[in-house]
Amino acid sequence: MVIKLKSDDEILVMREAGRIVANTLAHLREMIRPGLNVMEIEKFVREEYKRVGAKETFLNYAPGGKVPYPSNICVSINDELVHGIPRNRILQEGDIVSLDLGATYNGYVGDSAITVPVGKVNPIAEQLIEVTEASLWAGIKAARPGAHLNDVRGAIEDTIRKSGFSIVKGYGGHGVGRDMHEEPHVENFRQRFKGPKLQPGLVLALEPMVNAGGPDVAEGPDGWTVSTKDGSLCCHFEHTIAIRAGGEAEVLTLP
Ligand code: MG
Ligand code: MG
Repeated sequence: MVIKLKSDDEILVMREAGRIVANTLAHLREMIRPGLNVMEIEKFVREEYKRVGAKETFLNYAPGGKVPYPSNICVSINDELVHGIPRNRILQEGDIVSLDLGATYNGYVGDSAITVPVGKVNPIAEQLIEVTEASLWAGIKAARPGAHLNDVRGAIEDTIRKSGFSIVKGYGGHGVGRDMHEEPHVENFRQRFKGPKLQPGLVLALEPMVNAGGPDVAEGPDGWTVSTKDGSLCCHFEHTIAIRAGGEAEVLTLP
């Protein structure tokens, strides 16, 4: 396992990539409303990236011989957890929508996701969104130099467990840099071993994924969209963070 630590100069560029993702997501959050066609989301990202000079990280991403990903963003609705491909679909009051977005800027990647309610949603959906976002921030708080990766995994796990919701296994966070997916993989729950020690310059994308029902998920026939097996609601939040000397991690994907 080779972990690539980033210099201060590299983190400076990654902060720019992160800001582009964050600003774009902030705008999309404002756009989300009942009656919106999902394809409008893809169009906005395309135009925005052209305007700011960023590259669409997700477009044609094809790890390990997968079908190249056909869009610039993942839009996953209700029982869809991650990797939802945008299509002609009208958002309805009560839906919850996960927007996962990557940008490459001057060769470095920013990666972030939010889950947004469409109009008024039911209390379970509200709570699911609250818990998933809280678990992400618990992970970020635990990501201090000298801690181990298991401290981050455990902080995320404990927050989700208290809620009674299910932690999704088989998907998780990752190192990020010139490539979207670098070492280490970051599970959203404790492992037997404490994992690598967190050092200044380590840049991670933390991304808890939580189901309201059972923990099982499956990939759909399009080769990408991952949904809950029991059809229950699910939720996803993500930030790219840099471990900094002497204190809390810096969140690179803030507006
Ligand atoms: Mg992402
Ligand atoms: Mg990611």
